[in-house]
Amino acid sequence: MTNNIEHIGIAVKDLEAAKSIYEKLLGTVCYKVEAVESEGVATAFLKSGVNKIELLEASILESPIAKFIDKRGEGIHHIAFEVDDIESEMARLAAEGFTILSDKPKKGADNKLVCFVHPKSVNGVLIELCQEIK
Ligand code: ZN
Repeated sequence: MTNNIEHIGIAVKDLEAAKSIYEKLLGTVCYKVEAVESEGVATAFLKSGVNKIELLEASILESPIAKFIDKRGEGIHHIAFEVDDIESEMARLAAEGFTILSDKPKKGADNKLVCFVHPKSVNGVLIELCQEIK
């Protein structure tokens, strides 16, 4: 079972510029900037109450974020739900017919194990499952 929405991922062209916009919007400062080499992204996190905003900028040309922005422009990229046991949740969703984009969870940003559910199986929205690494 999924828990809270952990964060909303937003694809941006310029991380520094977006960071200052969201800092003004939320009246807070970004608490973490982190590169995820395996995904070709640079991320910045801001807190909004119990939730977070993850800003994502492509760090390489073949980055999924670069492709996303090419196709759709900047905007909401994914919704991330917190789970307690990512492997069992991946198995449950696969059994329900959802397309999971990896066989195993990967190390994501912000100290999380993550996996993604293909937007085609979820009404056009890319879904991330994330589990805090303890
Ligand atoms: Zn995310």
